[in-house]
Amino acid sequence: MTRAIFPASFDPITYGHVDIATRAAGVFDELIVGVYSRPQKNTLFSVEERLDLTQLALAHIPNIRVEPYSNLTVEFAKAYDASVIVRGLRVASDFEWELQLSLMNRTLNTDIETICFMPSQQYTFLSSSMLKDIAKNNGPITELAPADVVKALKIKYNHYNNHR
Ligand code: ADP
Repeated sequence: MTRAIFPASFDPITYGHVDIATRAAGVFDELIVGVYSRPQKNTLFSVEERLDLTQLALAHIPNIRVEPYSNLTVEFAKAYDASVIVRGLRVASDFEWELQLSLMNRTLNTDIETICFMPSQQYTFLSSSMLKDIAKNNGPITELAPADVVKALKIKYNHYNNHR
């Protein structure tokens, strides 16, 4: 049985992340989606909100579990007895960063492999920050993220726009 983790900040989860998680869940027996609670960048959503939205977005996939984590990714993998780290590759520019991350993680733990999945073409240019930018400016986002995320973004930015 092969267990994998898919670690990210999910601020918030997009259909690009859902695409990668769905593909990985089709390949591995179990996928633990790790919501990183302490990213370098400031997050729009709290860890509880990111966890909730990620759980709601992936609830329809039976072999996926969503868990928070705040330690090193390889430690999170070890804690769940996972041997694979799943990541996504959108465009060529992702490659350099993902290569650096995977080599660093391999230095920290040689038993864990990083495996990258490519999303459907329609999500190639989608990122959480692009989604937030469009939402902030009241642009159309229903094709980019699950309904609960769309709703949560509307609430956040209505508040923001009303107090600007
Ligand atoms: P973090 O910056 O915390 O790692 P991200 O959400 O930016 O979190 O990215 C997490 C992983 O998901 C990365 O491997 C990234 O390439 C991948 N990813 C994000 N958006 C997409 C997308 N639209 N298609 C494919 N992979 C994606």
